[in-house]
Amino acid sequence: MKASITDLVANGLCTGCGICTSESAGALEMKWNEDGFLIPVHNGQKYDMERTVKLCPFNPSPDDSIKDEDVLSLKYLKDTTQYDDRVGRFLNTYVGYSNQFRSTSSSGGIATYVFKQLLILNIVDYIYIVKEDNGSYSYQLFNNIEEIESVSKTRYIPVTMESLFKQINCLDGKIGISGVACFVKAIRLKQHYHPDLYQKIPFLVGIICGGWKSSFFSDFLSQTAGIQNEYSEQEYRIKDPKSLASDYSYGAKDDLGNFHSIKMAKVGDMWGTGLFKSRACDFCTDVMTELADISLGDAWLPEYRNDGLGNNIIVTRSKMADLIISNGISSGELKVSFISTGKIIQSQLPSFAHRQDAIKFRLNISNFKGHLTPYIRKRVLKSISLAYSLVQIQRERTRYRSFKYWKESKNSNVFIDKINFDLKLLKYLTKIYHRLRNL
Ligand SMILES: Cc1cc2nc3c(=O)[nH]c(=O)nc-3n(C[C@H](O)[C@H](O)[C@H](O)COP(=O)(O)OP(=O)(O)OC[C@H]3O[C@@H](n4cnc5c(N)ncnc54)[C@H](O)[C@@H]3O)c2cc1C
Repeated sequence: MKASITDLVANGLCTGCGICTSESAGALEMKWNEDGFLIPVHNGQKYDMERTVKLCPFNPSPDDSIKDEDVLSLKYLKDTTQYDDRVGRFLNTYVGYSNQFRSTSSSGGIATYVFKQLLILNIVDYIYIVKEDNGSYSYQLFNNIEEIESVSKTRYIPVTMESLFKQINCLDGKIGISGVACFVKAIRLKQHYHPDLYQKIPFLVGIICGGWKSSFFSDFLSQTAGIQNEYSEQEYRIKDPKSLASDYSYGAKDDLGNFHSIKMAKVGDMWGTGLFKSRACDFCTDVMTELADISLGDAWLPEYRNDGLGNNIIVTRSKMADLIISNGISSGELKVSFISTGKIIQSQLPSFAHRQDAIKFRLNISNFKGHLTPYIRKRVLKSISLAYSLVQIQRERTRYRSFKYWKESKNSNVFIDKINFDLKLLKYLTKIYHRLRNL
């Protein structure tokens, strides 16, 4: 029997993009679950189950013509002239920042710059981006160039595109969208089944993503920063121009409006450990948002690490994206230069190691346990060493327990006491794996 959206959600294979709701005739609605994720919930009304699963980026049995990023990129990225196994199809690779938006953005401000150009050049009439909404964040339509800075900065809290497809048919004009890899894939799948949406959504900005975090991540960071009750207006990337690019802080306002912040370095490794991360991310092999018109990430490279204001790595995958970047360089608005694909890959190396190199092991374990898994492109499947397999097992255990322990106490001190053993064991196993690998 074919899997339903409810089956996928039950197996943790949902990041909450909300694309399924657009084909459910109102039967699926996005709601918060007990793990702090937005997920589609069936309200009992009748709907076409097969149609909704076809749009899901984690579909276990997709049609051959759209089965993975490799075939989808052939269909949608016709301008591309180069190909790399890890970067995907592309035109050019760059590194740098926007003079105007760098200081108010998460990284080099290229995303905000690209969105401004898309609106100025009338390539789109609206952008659908993540913006402040009553103290929290949600996807919203936006077209006010004067206030473009208000759409800057990436937000590590669940958001959903459910609202877009409720409005899109009544909306006069074209739309540019920012999204992490699975959200971008969802849009491409929707465009496949509704080709008119290719004109309607002519530009996708890909936000390179190391993992989709539950709202527990924000709860935990807010408490650690000293907020005991409600919090709002979280800032996930407060830069320190005098320090390293990676030395950023998290901050939020308490219920009296006082701002509290904490250096992420004090909290410990929140990304490599998989704390509060969606299980679905362990079955995504698209590190570089291979299906977007432009892919943007952080230049986590030794040459740029000392620059606390941040730099973007940039991969252009359509002529329009490349034109925006090259015009920005010529006009002096962008301080951007070419960089090799090797450097682009180096900047995301831990993500490639986890997401692509170790996927076969995670698939095997998952299949052995009888869990549902999405279709994974065969070319990335590799065998890994015993030492790295142990790291994988412990990372999944830590990820799983982070949810269990947080729900038990919702107290950051109690949580740290409980998860500490798993974090230490993970660190130890990773150290052994690195030593053996270096031998
Ligand atoms: C969950 C998550 C994980 C990430 N992991 C990595 C990583 O492992 N490696 C890496 O190099 N970079 C990662 N990034 C990307 C990085 O944080 C920067 O966002 C990226 O480099 C763009 O920087 P910028 O200065 O150009 O963006 P800005 O100019 O600050 O603009 C960011 C744009 O993204 C939109 N946005 C904000 N939050 C979201 C969201 N959740 N989904 C979609 N759009 C959003 C904003 O509205 C804005 O338009 C991650 C981002 C997210 C959201």
